[in-house]
Amino acid sequence: MIFDNHNRPINYLRLAVTDRCNLRCSYCMPEHGLDWLSRSALLSYEELLRLCHIFAGLGIDKVRITGGEPFVRKDLIKFLDSLSNIEGIKQINLTTNGVASLPFIPRLKELGIRSVNLSLDTLDRERFFEITRRDELPAVLKTLDALIEQQFHVKINAVVLNGNNDADIIPMAELTKNLPVDVRFIEEMPFNGGDHEATSPVWDHRKILEQLQSSWPDIQKLTDPPNSTAFHYQIPGFKGKIGIIAAWTRSFCGSCNRIRLTPQGMLKTCLYDNGVLNIRDAIRSGNSNDQIAEKLMIAFRSRHENGWEAEAAAKAEGSFESMAMIGG
Ligand code: SAM
Ligand code: SF4
Repeated sequence: MIFDNHNRPINYLRLAVTDRCNLRCSYCMPEHGLDWLSRSALLSYEELLRLCHIFAGLGIDKVRITGGEPFVRKDLIKFLDSLSNIEGIKQINLTTNGVASLPFIPRLKELGIRSVNLSLDTLDRERFFEITRRDELPAVLKTLDALIEQQFHVKINAVVLNGNNDADIIPMAELTKNLPVDVRFIEEMPFNGGDHEATSPVWDHRKILEQLQSSWPDIQKLTDPPNSTAFHYQIPGFKGKIGIIAAWTRSFCGSCNRIRLTPQGMLKTCLYDNGVLNIRDAIRSGNSNDQIAEKLMIAFRSRHENGWEAEAAAKAEGSFESMAMIGG
């Protein structure tokens, strides 16, 4: 196990396999999309597998596949199959918007994937269209049903947007009454790829909790698992749990065990940094696995202490990213 320069273990990689997406969520990207990466700019599956092998050698044992929308990249299942065979990788999870995921659910189960994060910000079809600019709520709900039926651990991610889906907080939380799912409310972060000016979110974790308490004064705080980014709660008698992710407030930096790899191969050791190592260039310029591992170790041992410090450094360099280039 590798520790960073602030004595935090690093064992969790979030891998964004594409920047492309079949939705256009307003908190993530503009209506016209992004300047999509060319095929040659994207890390190939062969490169990703080589890197994952190196990461596993450094102590990464958990990988989350994200994007963009992972299922819009061709041959994702083949890649997952190879990834699941890398020694040392004990857990593979996935984050998806659920639009095109349904046909792949049985294969995910066969590959040993047990936990899926499904992004769903509202149960209202019009509001879904307003937020994502696509009329895909029915497809996402079918995916949700199938995941539950196939007994995946499902975490629903909902970004809370002021004056938009804030009215959905209570109906979304009510899903936990009869369904064994976690519904997690996320503070909006400033990664919308230029869709709108990014300001501090009105709906921070305190306001979200107050809203839940107004309907369920007896909502109970649960113990949070180690390295969790969410504050966990449960409404007495309900099957599922509720999470609140203080992604903008950044309350979880002290126990952060995660690193990120962007689709074009930038290593991020903090969600808020600009990318600290261009691994694509490192592999394409002929470095050996040992040499790449050495570069990674140096990056792990030079991490910012928290997201505020990383953001200040990123701003000084000048950046404006979309979450589809980061992976969430
Ligand atoms: N396309 C997939 C999906 O939406 O689930 C995976 C990639 S998406 C970038 C990963 C997560 O980031 C989603 O749960 C999404 O809601 C969240 N996200 C995107 N932009 C965000 C923002 N500006 N603030 C907070 N969360 C955001
Ligand atoms: Fe696509 Fe996910 Fe970004 Fe929405 S949040 S636009 S689904 S990558």
